[in-house]
Amino acid sequence: MRPHPARGARANRPTRALLGVAVALGACAPSSGDGAEAPAPEVRLPAQHSATNGFVNQCLVETAASVVAVDAGFLLSDVEAVEAMIDSIGKPLRAILVTHAHLDHTNGVARLSDDGAVPAYAPPRTILEHEVRDYSERLPHLRSLYPPGVPRLTPVRDGFELDVDGVVFRLLEMGPGESEWDAVWTVGGERPSHVFVGDLLLNQVHAFFQSGRSMEWIRSLDDLLELTPADARVYAGHGPPEAGRHELSWQRDYIVRAREAVPRVAGGADSLSDDAERRLYAEMSSWLPPNRLDFLILLGGDVLASELALEAERRVVDEKLAALGGS
Ligand SMILES: [Zn+2]
Repeated sequence: MRPHPARGARANRPTRALLGVAVALGACAPSSGDGAEAPAPEVRLPAQHSATNGFVNQCLVETAASVVAVDAGFLLSDVEAVEAMIDSIGKPLRAILVTHAHLDHTNGVARLSDDGAVPAYAPPRTILEHEVRDYSERLPHLRSLYPPGVPRLTPVRDGFELDVDGVVFRLLEMGPGESEWDAVWTVGGERPSHVFVGDLLLNQVHAFFQSGRSMEWIRSLDDLLELTPADARVYAGHGPPEAGRHELSWQRDYIVRAREAVPRVAGGADSLSDDAERRLYAEMSSWLPPNRLDFLILLGGDVLASELALEAERRVVDEKLAALGGS
């Protein structure tokens, strides 16, 4: 089996080399090197959920003297809600932490960062994905609602730590999954108290399978379930934002069920006929209440069918190689 790229990377986790290399921001208090623990950060949730903005979440983390944003919003109205909440908190925004390249999480970066005055951090692969893929072409009817500007993103690698008033945010590069390169940001060190998982958790909404990486997505969820303590707070990219291990398991089950449903209706083909689409929609739309991004069922159906057909082909080749005594 092909090794999971990020899993391999995390096996030699640069975190270890980078421990203690936390970045202290200009006006922030120094890291709690004297052993004193920083006060627990307060997470604020400014999202105005609706089907129009895809139930997307942005999180604001309030520390002693600062605010840190996880993702920046999709529509101008989302960014305005984030800005209004920052104003009401009355502390400066110190950083934006990006979970992945999709435009519903990066559209607001330029405006929220004041065109780069506030740093926005993301892994290099996420930045490349954002530059190479023009996701805005996929939803042209919403373009007039987007905030202006092009995000400027600062590349940081797995294990990067950002110290804000003694609260240390750590980047975990999870690799391909819901997007082509997912990142998770944690607070709390080796036993995280807060885990910002982006779209690795699409909480109680239908899933986006267009990256064609559903198997890797499952592996990332397995990694997350391993590293997330039972009492940790997990924050989802879409849907009800506050979650935990139960919701991560729910997401895993959803993907497994979808991977079973698609080849069943497609008969193993690498795309869906009209009849197969109707059957898939009827089945998967029954898994959740209506209007939970139902359009994603068919948007990702063909991609999932193609991914699974390719996996089946590889299994046949592997079996033949094994029978020949190869590997
Ligand atoms: Zn999203």
